[in-house]
Amino acid sequence: MALRLYNTLSGKIEEFHPLDGNRVRMYACGPTVYDYGHIGNFRTFIAVDLLYRFLRQSGYDVRYVMNITDVDDKIIRNSARDGVSVQEYTAKYVQAFLEDSATLSIEKPILVRATEHISEMAEFIAELEKKGFAYRTDDGSYYFRIAKFPAYGKLSKKDFAGMNDGARVDVDEYEKDSARDFALWKAPKPGEASWDTPIGPGRPGWHIECSVMSMEELGPSFDLHAGGEDLIFPHHENEIAQSESLSGQPLARYWFHPRFLLVEGQKMSKSLGNFFTIRDLVLRGHRPSSIRWLLTQVPYRNQLNFTFDGLNAAASSVEKLRNFRFRLTSTQFPAGSNPAMAQLAEETIAKMKSALDDDLNTAEAQAAMFDMLRKVNTALDAAEAHQDDVKPLLGALEQFDEIFGVLKDDDQVKMKAILDWARTEGREKEISPELLEVAGSAQLSDEQINQKLAEMDAARKARKFKESDAIRAELVGASIIVENTKDGVRWRRK
Ligand code: AMP
Ligand code: ZN
Repeated sequence: MALRLYNTLSGKIEEFHPLDGNRVRMYACGPTVYDYGHIGNFRTFIAVDLLYRFLRQSGYDVRYVMNITDVDDKIIRNSARDGVSVQEYTAKYVQAFLEDSATLSIEKPILVRATEHISEMAEFIAELEKKGFAYRTDDGSYYFRIAKFPAYGKLSKKDFAGMNDGARVDVDEYEKDSARDFALWKAPKPGEASWDTPIGPGRPGWHIECSVMSMEELGPSFDLHAGGEDLIFPHHENEIAQSESLSGQPLARYWFHPRFLLVEGQKMSKSLGNFFTIRDLVLRGHRPSSIRWLLTQVPYRNQLNFTFDGLNAAASSVEKLRNFRFRLTSTQFPAGSNPAMAQLAEETIAKMKSALDDDLNTAEAQAAMFDMLRKVNTALDAAEAHQDDVKPLLGALEQFDEIFGVLKDDDQVKMKAILDWARTEGREKEISPELLEVAGSAQLSDEQINQKLAEMDAARKARKFKESDAIRAELVGASIIVENTKDGVRWRRK
């Protein structure tokens, strides 16, 4: 069964088929690097990450490009305020975005930057002007003439009949429904960054970068374009207008828009001040894997309300999954197989696939895995599982994790990095005791812990109890929980 996705452009769920056989070309609008991203931004990036992972798992060869908006009104304003260049101002936040993405186990797309494509943008605008879609104003700015593009509004389903011909808007972000000619290029203002180009000095409007970079990386017509729901209008509408008036082809066939992360019913946003960054949550002692899990739990086309209860529940779900894998890999099973187990693994894989094929129903895919987990745990308690069952069950779990990406237990290392960052940034006051406790255990790698356990075991067997107790105490001091089970000693991080 093919993947079915909601396409904002058609307003319907459609079967997804790429233009070019097995190759998928997709583009996502990335971050504006004027500050640390909040977890709302990352809800969108994770939704696209899941789509990317699932397309790949479904056998497609995916080229996934994301832009970094490293020039816009806010960046220009803030860099002018701080008296530094745009590049200097954004470097820190580009780095933070890369780190935060890695913290959330987001796979790295091909990243392209606006400031590295200024001359291509100027050329694009010159072409639009030649074709009559753009015009220059007296101050040297350029605007897109929306009256020349009758399809304007086709993505956002806004009716722009009786458009206000010639009315203009030059701010990067606007929400008004009235259609106005929008800025492609802004003439320089005193004290603000600008670039010298064949169309004159100035800087690009926000929308042009995505038209230019997506078409350069993926061709004039590609498969899928993604971004948060607030980008439908005006950003994506404007991208379509710019690109399609130049190429005469549809820019993208599927438009994918994850919906907002909310806090108490309102959009999480910088301007409302109701936001948390990844780092804010980690400083409070929350694990990156819990944040990632939380952000994947609600299917992308439903808004998701952020709560700390939800985050704590996410932590316990991840722990259940990790404990389950641990149990499968560490238990000594009797030889043989229980055919019901392999069948269960197969059914679970099929259910996960059909849930994700159904417009990425992550909640249902997760429910299928937890159903398997419960059934297998019951079988394990009743000693009804055998050696040969481990492989198919682990296989299902790993296939699940190729999409959800939470099994790898590297939270502590990531949290330790954020702890160190907080110290260098002078944010010690925000470091919680919970973070200190968890990050403390990051000082020992998995191999070191296994090594210490082996030493402890050897000491105990040699009846050197003082030595074995000392090793145990050292592990406990590093927040490692050591448990004796009937299958031997096992450990986990606190
Ligand atoms: P920005 O850095 O503002 O350009 O936003 C980066 C991405 O985050 C865009 O795709 C936005 O649509 C998306 N976004 C912004 N706020 C939220 C939110 N509260 N929930 C989900 N996505 C969001
Ligand atoms: Zn964009």
